[in-house]
Amino acid sequence: MSPVIVVADLVDGTVGKPALELLTLARRIGEPVAVVFGEGADTAVGRLGEHGATRVLAVTDPAVTDYLVAPKAEALAQIAAALDPAAVLITSSAEGKEVAARLAVKLGSGLITDAVDVAADASTTQTVFAGSFSVHASVTHGVPVITVKPNAVTPEPAPASPTVETFAVTVSESARGARIVSVEPKRASGRPELAEAAVVVSGGRGTGGNFEEVEQLADSLGAAVGASRAAVDSGWYPHSYQVGQTGKTVSPQLYIAAGISGAIQHRAGMQTSKAIVAVNKDVEAPIFALADLGVVGDLHTVLPAVAAEVARLRS
Ligand code: FAD
Repeated sequence: MSPVIVVADLVDGTVGKPALELLTLARRIGEPVAVVFGEGADTAVGRLGEHGATRVLAVTDPAVTDYLVAPKAEALAQIAAALDPAAVLITSSAEGKEVAARLAVKLGSGLITDAVDVAADASTTQTVFAGSFSVHASVTHGVPVITVKPNAVTPEPAPASPTVETFAVTVSESARGARIVSVEPKRASGRPELAEAAVVVSGGRGTGGNFEEVEQLADSLGAAVGASRAAVDSGWYPHSYQVGQTGKTVSPQLYIAAGISGAIQHRAGMQTSKAIVAVNKDVEAPIFALADLGVVGDLHTVLPAVAAEVARLRS
């Protein structure tokens, strides 16, 4: 079986769920080879192996890890030249997509971004135009370089026993144009990352500016918090939590929209959620046309009641 390169992003030194999802997809195509940038491969190797990585390549050269994006693309091009892979899979983050684009240019390959599924022949499915169309596409030239949205699949274990191999790379001077001068960890909210969360609870203008009930329900479910643009533009929640066309795209197992009308621009960022629950006091709200379960009611009553019930069931 041909190798499939998987860029395994670490979050706070541990393997993130998106990396496990990529490994699950990579196994359909061939033998996953995980690439880990920076320190951490030694602690990550066990978890990567549990999910089918047959090899773990560590790229620890500061000429790569101290710089933004470009050296990673060069490193991956050198790994691809050494392995002749059937595909390269990268998570659809902002950085992932930039690395993928640069890599595709270096390899003279076709690039597919934001896939929500990848088949055994490396053909992909994307959802476009606010989720109203599915596109099936294949790379026709070179090694397929594919970025995959988080939550595309459920990670499935398939134990393998990889060892960590350090992969030495040569980084050009021109790739070292933007050096990272400092890194400040984001203040931990204790909640999962919005784009990767399995459950998201979002609040809109209907919250009236009080996100406490949204946060309480999110915490009872172990969910991330999202917000509509109306809410973030009003200064009620940080812009980085905006879901939608001009915010983050999420595709969780469960999306709860509270006090959100369901404008097309909001739907563009959450329409591919597996199950959608809407809480809105207006029975005519467009969000109900999209929802799997609609609750007509005041979110200030409904959300605390649901949070209390979840807490009761979990106790
Ligand atoms: P509203 O549309 O005002 O809806 C509030 C809802 O809350 C109503 O349905 C109301 O019935 C309900 N409600 C009120 N009180 C309660 C209560 N107590 N309990 C329960 N329900 C209650 N929007 C995004 O979200 N994300 C984007 O990325 C985005 N990008 C955009 C890009 C462009 C170019 C443009 C033009 C717009 C964009 N928008 C985006 C804005 C979008 O068009 C809507 O204006 C916005 O989504 C509305 O947010 P909302 O649903 O919170 O507010």
